[in-house]
Amino acid sequence: MNKTAIISIDVEEWYHLDYFSGDRSGHSVMDGLENILRVLDEERIPASFFIVTELLANHSFNFDILKKYGDDVGIHSCNHKKPNTQCVEEFTEDLDSAIRDYIKYFSQAPTGYRAPCFAIDKEKMEVVRAKDFLYDSSKIDLPQNKLYGNFDLTDYEKISPLVYKCQNFTVFEVPTKKTATGSLPIGGGGYLRIIPGWLYERWVRSYIRDSEFYHIYLHPYEFSTSKIPASELRSMSFLNRFRMLYNRRSTRKKLKSLIRLLKGNGYKFSTYRQYCTNLK
Ligand SMILES: [Zn+2]
Repeated sequence: MNKTAIISIDVEEWYHLDYFSGDRSGHSVMDGLENILRVLDEERIPASFFIVTELLANHSFNFDILKKYGDDVGIHSCNHKKPNTQCVEEFTEDLDSAIRDYIKYFSQAPTGYRAPCFAIDKEKMEVVRAKDFLYDSSKIDLPQNKLYGNFDLTDYEKISPLVYKCQNFTVFEVPTKKTATGSLPIGGGGYLRIIPGWLYERWVRSYIRDSEFYHIYLHPYEFSTSKIPASELRSMSFLNRFRMLYNRRSTRKKLKSLIRLLKGNGYKFSTYRQYCTNLK
C-alpha cells in the first residue's frame, strides 16, 4: 500500500469535555468544525469523522455535509460518556442508542467507532465488534495520560505497526513515537495545539521516516475562536483552562503545515473506511 495519511475529527461540543459542569448555555464551537472543513477544502483532502450522536438531534449544524469528505462518518458515543465509567450493560445501551440516532439522521448504519477519551477495554470493544462495525480507532499507547485506556489486542492479527485485524473488524491504533524513556504524543488532539510546531513536526518527521501510515485526530474546539461562557471559565482550574484554550489560534496553521509535511513526504490522504476496503 502507498504511504497513507488519515485525518480524523471527533465531532463534539465544548461541554462534552470532562472539565465542564454540563451547563450548555447555548454556546457552540462548531465554527471550529467549519474551520477544519475549510482546510480540507483548501488542501483537497478527505477525512473521517466520529460524531457524538446527541448533536444530530439537538444541533442546528448540517452534519450531512460531512459525508462530502470521503463518506466516512462514524460514531463517538451518545453524549461522550467514557465507556470505562459504564458497566457493560450501560455501555451496550449507550451504543445502541447512538446507532439508532445515527441511522435516524443518515439513513444508514455507521461503520466506524471511536470511544470518548480512548477509554475502553477489551470486553466493551467486543460489544462494538459484535455490532458489525467495520473498524475502530480507540487504541492509543500513551500511559502518561491517565484518562486513556489501552485495550488488549490479543486475538488480533497485526497487519502493520498501527493496524490490527480480527476477522472483518480493523483497529487503527493512534500513533505515538517511542523513545528510550516512553511514548511521545504525535497523534493530534490537544498535543498538536499545545506542543510547539517545530518540535511536533520533528517528532512526526522522525516517525514517518520508518512508516507508511500516519493518522491524527482533531476536535472542533481546538479550531474554534468563539469564547467559552465566563461562568464556565471561572469554574475551571488554571490547568484545565490551559489544556482547553492554550494556542487555539495557532492550530489551523499547524495543521496546514503538517499536511504539507506529509504531502511533501509522498503521503496520500484517505479515510479509515477506504483503508479497510483496500485491505480486503
Ligand atoms: Zn471525544
